Amino acid sequence: MTEDSLDMQKLIIEVDKKSGFCFGVARAVKLAEESLNNGDLLSSLGDIVHNEEEVNRLKKKGMGVLPDACGEHSNEQTILFRAHGEPPSTYIKVEKSGAKLIDATCPVVLKLQERVKKAWKEMQSVNGQIIIYGKKGHAEVRGLVGQTNDEAIVIQFPEEIKNLARNKPIVLFSQTTMSYSGFDEIRNLLEKHLVDPDLLKVNRTICAQVGNRVPHLQDFSSKYDVILFVGGKKSSNGQFLYEVCKKVNRATYYVTGITNVKKDWFSDKITSIGICGATSTPQWLMENLAESVKRLLE
Ligand code: SF4
Repeated sequence: MTEDSLDMQKLIIEVDKKSGFCFGVARAVKLAEESLNNGDLLSSLGDIVHNEEEVNRLKKKGMGVLPDACGEHSNEQTILFRAHGEPPSTYIKVEKSGAKLIDATCPVVLKLQERVKKAWKEMQSVNGQIIIYGKKGHAEVRGLVGQTNDEAIVIQFPEEIKNLARNKPIVLFSQTTMSYSGFDEIRNLLEKHLVDPDLLKVNRTICAQVGNRVPHLQDFSSKYDVILFVGGKKSSNGQFLYEVCKKVNRATYYVTGITNVKKDWFSDKITSIGICGATSTPQWLMENLAESVKRLLE
């Protein structure tokens, strides 16, 4: 070892045991694997999880991926609805095709869909509106909006609130993977925007599987010199949880795998690397990355 190289004997590389699939994603992947093991001609509608490596692993086992809710299905196919859920129109489409359905919608999302539908029905008699704080075009949001005959309004940014009517009752919900702070900002702005704050009914429907990871990841990120956050390119909660880590530890890097890792992120001064990830990041991918990083730095 030269004086200015990393001391591999002392370097700690640790994978966060609390990162990785949330309950809903783990369940969807398990249902897909069971179906593939049964020999079904299985396709998921859209990527089963926002992680390219996991999607590729399942593709190798025989799973197809169809574009979101598009295309025709044959009655020999088995269609899997992923954890994000689908609008009622997709259920009708699959039923008409005669394809077998595996509904892997996360139970938390199913419950939220029911609540949105119920609130929308109630709002019809008082000319009220349903507002969903979430990402426009996100699969879960499309599924929620579908519960309201596409009438719910999606708010992604605070500046969109000024376009809303000021005198109509509002029931506010959240996409499950949004941040608590973002939601609270929207709620506060809505209260100020309405002529009467009592017109607003608030449902802070952020999933605890995401929310609870925030304090844990803040703690985890503070313990290591460098943090490698592993997530898919399209992962919404991945971007959010990465920001959480980055705020605590400036030396946090978002990677999809070893190919993104740059050697110059690791100065000779560092003694520890923490590896964590999103609710859509498989544990095996983080473990593999730990091994690859070790080899890269040796
Ligand atoms: S983040 Fe929560 S709501 Fe979303 S799939 Fe996971 S467990 Fe379900």
